[in-house]
Amino acid sequence: MAMKIDKDCCTACGECASVCPTGAISPAKGVYKIDPAICTECEGEADEPQCMNTCPDGCIDYLSA
Ligand code: SF4
Ligand code: SF4
Repeated sequence: MAMKIDKDCCTACGECASVCPTGAISPAKGVYKIDPAICTECEGEADEPQCMNTCPDGCIDYLSA
């Protein structure tokens, strides 16, 4: 259970990383990346994945989607 960032969409604005409660998001190779081993889909923190709600370009979706 984790989220993923579309690297072709990400502008590296960093907004998702700033709202992530688990620190799962970090810069990598000029874009941002979610560590699926750390991402909890914000379970227990929020009703919806905060990164997905925050990304201004809609680059984040469920890993399983
Ligand atoms: S879903 Fe939540 S825990 Fe996972 S990367 Fe996004 S903000 Fe972080
Ligand atoms: S908020 Fe969206 S565009 Fe900005 S760093 Fe995160 S995934 Fe990339």
